[in-house]
Amino acid sequence: MTDRAHAVGLDQADVLAPFVERFHPPGGQRGTVYLDGNSLGPQPREAAGAVDVELQRWRSRLIRGWNERWLELVDEASQCVAALVGAPPDALVVGDSTTVCLYKAASAAIRAAPLRPDILTDRGNFPTDLYVLGEVATAAGGRLRVLDAPPTADRVAAEIDGRVGLVALSHVDFRTGELLALAEITEVTRRAGARSLWDLSHSAGVVPVDLGDAGVDLAIGCTYKYLYGGPGSPAYLYVRPDLAGELQTPIPGWFGHADPFAMEPSYRPAPGADRFRAGTPPVLSIAALVPGLRIVAEAGAAAIRAKSVALTHLAIALADAWLAPLGATVVTPRVPARRGGHVALRFPDARAVSARLVADHGVIGDARQPDILRLGLSPLHLRFVDVHDGLARIAAALREERPAPDVVDLGPVP
Ligand SMILES: *Cc1c(COP(=O)(O)O)cnc(C)c1O
Repeated sequence: MTDRAHAVGLDQADVLAPFVERFHPPGGQRGTVYLDGNSLGPQPREAAGAVDVELQRWRSRLIRGWNERWLELVDEASQCVAALVGAPPDALVVGDSTTVCLYKAASAAIRAAPLRPDILTDRGNFPTDLYVLGEVATAAGGRLRVLDAPPTADRVAAEIDGRVGLVALSHVDFRTGELLALAEITEVTRRAGARSLWDLSHSAGVVPVDLGDAGVDLAIGCTYKYLYGGPGSPAYLYVRPDLAGELQTPIPGWFGHADPFAMEPSYRPAPGADRFRAGTPPVLSIAALVPGLRIVAEAGAAAIRAKSVALTHLAIALADAWLAPLGATVVTPRVPARRGGHVALRFPDARAVSARLVADHGVIGDARQPDILRLGLSPLHLRFVDVHDGLARIAAALREERPAPDVVDLGPVP
């Protein structure tokens, strides 16, 4: 397992190996190893051309571009994401940021159940989720209830009482990489009379998701991680088709109107998820996103998941062999069914080591407070040898006895 030849053999047998060429390799010297695809996925080679086509259309066709292509392009992106997460085409819309989509979805769910204003989530949820959910619950006269332990179906069921209207969780824990039991938790939530809202930012594109099959009420997620949409690419919002008609968006914009171009003085919601559109969609960002969505669709969720499990398995095995003796422990669950696409290591000076890895070793991962080094292993652009080499360099960095240099601030990496 620790031989480089083992990783080479895995690459030779990898049915997804040709997809590596569909992405630009990371820049930088000494063969940079990019292990941060769970923060920002790499750039598909087709992305620049796809954006350029729309820039040219804007240049030459101006306003005519909307009817000639852009409205259709927005629908194409939405339908592509819908297919990926097991949703019918009219149950999901792409647009706005993850944070804004979360606000719209959570507010709509809470507003529809005025007697149940509390929202249940967990301590490990992403900061934006904790902030937004707290605000939505408080504004409705309720409060955010926060589980201290990782959410299981039993823990969630035990916490839902007559005041909890919404259970809002992330499918994969952004720190530890733990994958929650989405279907079971959704089911206990439904039985207890609350709505479910899942954040798929760290799962869609790397972990198979079937929202329809699981009976999920609402879901949101970002597209710049495992969907390769580029920095700040638009997020998406899913609503169960037979629930949509009962929900009211808190941002009734003209693009979510039943007939936007009628320019009526009062708001009438569009059917289905379309009512959650707010304003004019970001066409150039959506153009940049479509190639990544197509690549993911072409590779297929099952093959992506199989490679993801194999990559995380290799990373965990190498961490056990090389890093555990140096004081770094794997915090990601070892059972494949309980982990997502990244591996988290815990050791005291993770932040300083992460900075040194970037500066001196050409390994880009990231650190999360207080003591976690995250290795995002996006299956479509990484080879098994990249994981081998990355882990070998992490071991070298941990072995270095020189004091850590000043911590380089890597900025607010989501
Ligand atoms: C990445 C991520 C976000 C990011 O929100 P933005 O509005 O896109 O900045 C939110 N929630 C989770 C769980 C994430 O992983």
